[in-house]
Amino acid sequence: MNSMLATTQTSISNAARRIGWTAEQIKDFLKPTQSHYYDLTITMDDGHEKKFKAYRIQHNNKRGPYKGGIRFHQQVDEHEVQALATLMTIKCAIANLPLGGSKGGIVVDPKKLSLTELEKLSRAWARAFAPHIGPEIDVPAPDVNTSGQTMSWMVDEFIKVSQDLIHTPIQKHAAFTGKPINLHGSPGRIEATGQGGVYVLEALLAKIGKKPADTTVAVQGIGNVGYHFALHAQKLGCKVVAISDSKGGIYAADGLKSVEHALKHKHASGKLEGVPGTRHIANEHLLELAVDILVPAALENAITVHNAPKVKAKAVIEMANGPVSSEAEGMLTKKGIIVIPDVVANAGGVTVSYLEWYQNMHEETWALEQVNVKLKKYMSDAFDAVWKYHLKHSVSLREATFEIALKRVDGA
Ligand code: NAD
Repeated sequence: MNSMLATTQTSISNAARRIGWTAEQIKDFLKPTQSHYYDLTITMDDGHEKKFKAYRIQHNNKRGPYKGGIRFHQQVDEHEVQALATLMTIKCAIANLPLGGSKGGIVVDPKKLSLTELEKLSRAWARAFAPHIGPEIDVPAPDVNTSGQTMSWMVDEFIKVSQDLIHTPIQKHAAFTGKPINLHGSPGRIEATGQGGVYVLEALLAKIGKKPADTTVAVQGIGNVGYHFALHAQKLGCKVVAISDSKGGIYAADGLKSVEHALKHKHASGKLEGVPGTRHIANEHLLELAVDILVPAALENAITVHNAPKVKAKAVIEMANGPVSSEAEGMLTKKGIIVIPDVVANAGGVTVSYLEWYQNMHEETWALEQVNVKLKKYMSDAFDAVWKYHLKHSVSLREATFEIALKRVDGA
C-alpha cells in the first residue's frame, strides 16, 4: 500500500472510531464501491501501437454522483488513485456538495506524447470508461497534467459513444467539468481553487479578529493555485510579502506592489528574480518567514519534521494537496500554529466544478459574479462548520473535517 493511501485510511479510521463507527462500518467505507481498469491502445505517430494502463476508482456515491479528476502521470498507480478518490468523498462532503468521490488516471508521461497522441489517448479513455460515467453517474474533471483541452476531447468522444437518451445535448456536457467556456464551461473555474482559498482566509481573519491590511502572506508555488491565491489575497487588502516558484522566490517586507506584474515579469524573463522593489529569497527561507499566513501551494510534504520547528507563521493554509506531513502538523499545532487542511482550503476547484455541472444540467449560463457569490458561501460555510466543531470537541481542524465529512456521508 502506498503512503498516501495508508495515511488517508488511518485518518479516516481514527475519525470514524471517535464518532462511534464499528470496525465493520469503517471497513465498508474504506472499500471503493467500484474499480475499473482498462488497457488503452493507441497508434503512435510512428505507426506502432502502444498500450497504456488506465483507471477509474469510484469510492462513494451516497451523497450524489461520483466526482473527481483524471491525472496523466507516469507514477499513477491503483493505490494512489484509490487514496485520491477517497479524499474526494471527504472533500465533497465537507464542502457540502451533493456529490461523491472518485478519481481516474492513465500511467503515462504526457511530455513524451505529441498533441495528436494525447488527443487519441484522451479519446480512448472516454470511450473505454463511457459505460461507467455520465452526468448522474460519475463526473470527471482535470487534474495533474490534464486541462480544459483534455476535457474537450473527452466530452466530445463521450457524447459520440454514449447511449444516453435522457439528457439534452447541453446536459450531456455535464458528464465532464473543467471544460473551456466555449464548450459549456463555467466562468471562474480556472481561478476557483485559489479564489476559494482566499474566501477561507477571509473567514479565518474574521474568526481571529485580524484585518486584511494588517495581515502578511507568503505563498510557496506561484502556479495556477498559488498565483490566484496571491492575486486575490492582495485584492482583499493583505500584504503579500513573498512568492516563489521551483527556481526560487522574491520578498518585499512591505508587500509586493503587484502580484500580477510579478507574474508578467516571470513570463517575460523566465524567473521571478529581478521584480523591482523585491529581493531574492530561497525556497526553504520562504517557509520560515515570520508571516501571519503561510501558503504552501506547490507540492506535497513541503513542511516535514525537518523544517516544522523553523516555521514562524501564525497560520498555514494548505492549498497544495498534502503539503504538511502528519508528524509536522502535530509539531505546528503544538506551537499554536493554525493548520487549515487541504480538503477544506482547496475545495474551491471542485465547488466550481459542481456549479458548472449545475449550469449544464439546468441549461443556464451564469456571470462570474454569480459563480463567486456561491463559491464564497460554500467555502465560508465549510470553514465555519470545521472551526466551530474543532472548538466544541477540542480536536484539530483536520480531525474536525474528517469527523464532519464522515457524519455527512453516513447521514446520507
Ligand atoms: P502548477 O503546476 O500550476 O503550479 C505549481 C507551482 O509550484 C509552479 O509554479 C512550480 O514552479 C512551483 N514549484 C514546484 N516546486 C516548487 C518548490 N520546491 N518551491 C516553490 N515552488 C515550487 O500546479 P497547481 O495546479 O497550481 O497545483 C498546485 C498544488 O495544488 C498541487 O498539490 C495540486 O495537487 C493542488 N491542487 C490543485 C488544484 C487545481 O485546481 N489546480 C485543486 C486542488 C489541489
